[in-house]
Amino acid sequence: MLSINGMLGEGGGQILRTSLALSLVTGNPFIIKEIRAGRKKPGLMRQHLTCVNAAVKVGNAKAEGANIGSQSLKFEPRAITPGKYNFAIGTAGSCTLVLQAILPALLVADGPSEVILEGGTHNPFAPPFDFLDQTFLRLINEMGPTVSASLIRPGFYPAGGGKIKVEITPSPLGEIDLTQRGEILNKTAKAFVANLPENIAAREIKIVKKLLGWEDCEIVNIPYSHGPGNVLTLSVESENLTEVFTGFGVKGVTAEKVAKRCVGQVKSYLAADAPVGKHLADQLLIPLAMAGGGTFITQPPSRHTMTNIEVVKQFLDLNINCAEIDERRWQISVEK
Ligand code: ATP
Repeated sequence: MLSINGMLGEGGGQILRTSLALSLVTGNPFIIKEIRAGRKKPGLMRQHLTCVNAAVKVGNAKAEGANIGSQSLKFEPRAITPGKYNFAIGTAGSCTLVLQAILPALLVADGPSEVILEGGTHNPFAPPFDFLDQTFLRLINEMGPTVSASLIRPGFYPAGGGKIKVEITPSPLGEIDLTQRGEILNKTAKAFVANLPENIAAREIKIVKKLLGWEDCEIVNIPYSHGPGNVLTLSVESENLTEVFTGFGVKGVTAEKVAKRCVGQVKSYLAADAPVGKHLADQLLIPLAMAGGGTFITQPPSRHTMTNIEVVKQFLDLNINCAEIDERRWQISVEK
């Protein structure tokens, strides 16, 4: 049985999710101790517990220690069972993070699946729905499986109440090479507001136009959200992938500041001339590891990326090389 150290590197929830995902894929059981030891409130929170419970269902697994606050977990998977699933987090915890724990297994299951996830869909520090849909799943589709995601209702912190549907037709994953971004085809800004004045979105778009000069800008007023929310997404569609950068409206932070921070992410991405952004880099490691190979060029790797590499290597016998190209770009290669 593999022993995973939850204090490793970043010391957050991703160590647990990657372990669950790869345990299901490889059939290897594991024990994780010191879960989220690097966080203020360590142990399993609602989102992480939903990940464990979802992985138990999808993998017919046995889990010990699956309760709120638990800092250790023993997880023993059996067969992956595709099918129709509905997982509700019960808080505004991130739906897309729950998906991280179970999607890899369903991508290579022996039949199609339909997964409904309920909780937050646009959470700070988690992949927002738009990133999942436009960035991550587009690449997964290029690697073999057919996966589509639809946003049934957005969910923002703290009200939650969001819902997404993910449909998966599995296939073995093929390698992918993302060393070139290719020509930039479209640059699109969308400022979403739910139960908040539209003026917030308009001020964000004004900053985007001023600082980036983008013309394809849209204000989207969401009428059916459970609570208030504001998100700015900036998408850079290139020949080889689409990257989505997100600014989250926060009480007490001006719309201008939210937009400027988001613009900063885009500027740094474009200046680096690296196709893969910081967040995509840590998430891409899982499908690449499952494919048994692949290469990408990214911005200097985050702690999430370095930590994920360590966890992946515990489950799969792979070489993962990280080499600095220059101060803005690194190449990461996965090889058998
Ligand atoms: P905790 O660390 O509190 O346990 P957690 O379980 O929410 O938190 P992390 O370990 O911090 O999770 O992992 C967050 C994941 O969300 C990472 O895969 C990261 O790349 C992704 N992510 C964060 N922000 C964004 C964003 N703006 N766009 C896309 N992905 C994001």
